[in-house]
Amino acid sequence: MVHHQADAPDDPVGSCAYFSRLIGSDPDLVLHGGGNSSVKAPWSDITGRIREAIFVKGSGWDMGSLEVDGLTALSLSRLRELLELDELSDVDMMRELAASKFDPGAPNPSVETLLHAFLPYPAVQHSHADVIVTLTNLASPDALVREVYGDDVVVIPYVMPGFDLAREVRSTWSEQAHEGTLGMVLCNHGLFTFGEDSETAYRRHSDLIERAVAWLDREAPVAPPVGSELPEVLLTDLARLRCHLSRVAGEPMVVSRHTDPTVSAFLARPDLASLAGQGPLTPDHVIRTKRIPMIGSTVEVVEAYAEAYRQYVEQHRERASTELTEIDPAPRVVLDPELGMLTVGRTATDARVASDIYHHTIPVLCRAEDHLGGYQALPDHELFDVEYWDLEQAKLRRGGPAPDLTGSVAVVTGAASGIGRACAEELLQRGAAVVGVDRAAEVVTVGEGDAWLGVEADVTDSEAVGRAVRSAVEHFGGIDIVVVAAGIFGPSTSLDTLTSEEWRRVMAVNVDSVQILFGLVGPLLALSPIGGRVAVVGSKNVPAPGQGAAAYSASKAALQQLCRVAALEWAADGVRINVVHPDAVFDTGLWNDELIAERAAQYGLTPDEYRRRNLLSAEITSRLVARSTVALCTD
Ligand code: ZN
Repeated sequence: MVHHQADAPDDPVGSCAYFSRLIGSDPDLVLHGGGNSSVKAPWSDITGRIREAIFVKGSGWDMGSLEVDGLTALSLSRLRELLELDELSDVDMMRELAASKFDPGAPNPSVETLLHAFLPYPAVQHSHADVIVTLTNLASPDALVREVYGDDVVVIPYVMPGFDLAREVRSTWSEQAHEGTLGMVLCNHGLFTFGEDSETAYRRHSDLIERAVAWLDREAPVAPPVGSELPEVLLTDLARLRCHLSRVAGEPMVVSRHTDPTVSAFLARPDLASLAGQGPLTPDHVIRTKRIPMIGSTVEVVEAYAEAYRQYVEQHRERASTELTEIDPAPRVVLDPELGMLTVGRTATDARVASDIYHHTIPVLCRAEDHLGGYQALPDHELFDVEYWDLEQAKLRRGGPAPDLTGSVAVVTGAASGIGRACAEELLQRGAAVVGVDRAAEVVTVGEGDAWLGVEADVTDSEAVGRAVRSAVEHFGGIDIVVVAAGIFGPSTSLDTLTSEEWRRVMAVNVDSVQILFGLVGPLLALSPIGGRVAVVGSKNVPAPGQGAAAYSASKAALQQLCRVAALEWAADGVRINVVHPDAVFDTGLWNDELIAERAAQYGLTPDEYRRRNLLSAEITSRLVARSTVALCTD
């Protein structure tokens, strides 16, 4: 970690946010919502009265981007009263925490709030550092933690976060804490540090982490992973696996492939199955990765994994305090010696988060196994308690319906502009993961986030299109939807001046490229868990060609016939195809003012009459065409 605090704010709350960001921006310390922080400072209310408060990181805020608004002020005296209770359920605790906020509009505070309130220091920082879970996912972690830290830290055995953990710390604190205590190690969970101010808590955090890193590098040195390249795989093998996974999940899932050295070296280990079968680094990963990965990729393996998951839920069902909302039985991490590591999620972001977490899990598993006497995760019932605890269950029940194309994967050609771009945007908005293909480099930035992949490729170049299709399947697992929108108009010229080069160019882009694409995507669409859907942007010129547009009109007519044959050949696989024939859509790359004037003159119209020549005299935009086109790709 870097020590740069010159620009740290002076006020306690600003300073807490600042040092939380330093900790949160290091993925070896904090991943995806893990960790939290607090500071005890006065709160002045609207009447001018000064209240004793604690500002705790609110849920929904990440440490790496925490701002003052993400720190919720609560009544410290009220939290101390709650700590006197003998027991408090999670649901009651969350209600009482909400009722202890000074500003009801502030986010709900962390479930670890009562622990923060108890710790007898103004500032507290907490992470789920990799090195701490490395030292504590072992048969007897105490001795090792003492060897690294002596009695500079308080050590607490694993207790599920919430009221019970706060009580556990409260009852053992005085046995271990002393003047020189710098922090607290929670086994199988993480590190707390504290001090008079957030900078002190942060410095102690960094120092304790550095000591663990140095100790591990000395006593349990590991070389960087050397993995052999995994061979290229058949795309249909990936798509078939995604189809099986989606079937057991009951919904289409995004599946992302990873073949980096960390993964391939792990897959090559002879003890892969026993090591991967151990369990997560810390229980809150179970929400993202499930308890264990699936090993292998056949349909039998998928069925067996799902069955084992259902049994695990049955076995522990009575531990839950309320009726269970069951989580689907599909794995979130798949390890297969040939396919690599595949991470699975309802969205591309879920699949990435699972990948981030498992990339941090692999080195910890290996190090503990090879140098520290063997990795040992928590027993299943502790993991179940977190996977199915009330607060997570409440989140599942609260979440409204997902957008209708969530989990599906679409490929859109001509995605950098016009109708193609509008289709890509519409598909993203409806929850699909989208691969946009265009020869224009801007395609990369048409969308943002995990669900967007822009690929610069000329659709007439079969190798480039092949690479784009491969990227789509490697990133998202398969292809459910194809929107063909790449097309050119060509020169507006009569037959006697049309050159064969111009003719060929239009045919190559508008028809030949689609024949190439369909050849590649047909077998993948046949493996779509929702039934493949294709929508092709044709043209009004198919039923009603225009003078001076021979190449364009003929190419779109040929395209229509190509689609009819695709419909015949693909129907048996449940793949459907539709063609939309837009007319007079002038906000696309095909058109410019000069061309509009030229075409208008051919019909004896002014440009404005030409723009609105339909019964409603309406202007038809790319966005409207995209909505109709995407509607044909939904249920
Ligand atoms: Zn924690």
